Amino acid sequence: MFKPIELFLPVKFIIKKFFIKILLVAFLLTPYDLKSLENGVNDFGIITLMYHRFEENKYPSTNIKIKEFKNHLNLIKEKDLKFINPKNFENEIKNKQQRKILLTIDDGFLSFYDKAWPILKELKTPFILFVSTREVGKRGYMSWDQIKEISRYDFVEIGNHSHTHEYLIDLTNKEILNDLQISKLIFKEKLGVNSNFFSYPFGEYSLGFKKIVQDLGFKYAFGQHSGVVDYTKDFHEMPRFPINEKYGELERFKTILNTLPFQYKSIEPKERYINDLTNPPNIIINFHENLKNINNINCFSNENNKWRNSKIEFLSNYSIKINLEGKFTTERGRVNCSLRENNNFYRWLGVQFVVKEK
Ligand SMILES: [Zn+2]
Repeated sequence: MFKPIELFLPVKFIIKKFFIKILLVAFLLTPYDLKSLENGVNDFGIITLMYHRFEENKYPSTNIKIKEFKNHLNLIKEKDLKFINPKNFENEIKNKQQRKILLTIDDGFLSFYDKAWPILKELKTPFILFVSTREVGKRGYMSWDQIKEISRYDFVEIGNHSHTHEYLIDLTNKEILNDLQISKLIFKEKLGVNSNFFSYPFGEYSLGFKKIVQDLGFKYAFGQHSGVVDYTKDFHEMPRFPINEKYGELERFKTILNTLPFQYKSIEPKERYINDLTNPPNIIINFHENLKNINNINCFSNENNKWRNSKIEFLSNYSIKINLEGKFTTERGRVNCSLRENNNFYRWLGVQFVVKEK
């Protein structure tokens, strides 16, 4: 703001103030900014991690051992990544200069409350806990009292994970709508508010499901396809990296911390819920024309229930077709593409298709 008094200050004093300002600016440039300048990266996104159970070692596909979870938190700290508070999501997604993490935990298992919450509370680490309202209070799940208790902390967001947590995608749109409406009513009754955040059960969504979520007023919805959230993504199909015992090894985790958003113009087909007629899907990814190093792209896909290096056909300099070698035969068909940058960072883009039950 212009202060008239400055007009009367001696020139020498003004110059001194000017240098102090420069010093201040230099000081405000955090190590993150300096590092990102060094690496030539100016488009960091929000690396979103998804956890489920903690130290429930009989469920390796959804569990993480507490020792490993602590290693993850330490590594994030060591690498100067910032945990973002979901309440500031709108601003954080616009900040491309800083390396960021969003922690999410699905299902509201009691093991989260018993094992992970004490750690996160102590460190004041922000997170979203996604709960399915029908399951709250059941054996092995958190109670409403416990959820209410943690929701009072300003770094905690309780997100919506549907009411029943069934395979909603296989239901009619009317049934999906009904399920989500019940959930919203219960949220309002138990917590007094409805969250802006939704997470699709099993990460499964169709065009119809996505529209219902949007129409019900949820601002952001997460799937379970891997990738980095950034401002160019469709806010109702945001990617997350699933972390569990199988995929929780420190080496993989380190790679995830070095991922960048992989921006694209469009991915065809837009309907990720496929049936016998549309399986295998004809996958075309159109990229922006400023994308560098596109020739370094590498994709993997799991058609015929076998992971393989996908056959990529360039339709133009910025458009690729994934030629699948057969149908997706498991419930979820996946394509993961990565693009190695020159500075050890990877752009990451995951697509998940859900195969309709016969
Ligand atoms: Zn779930």
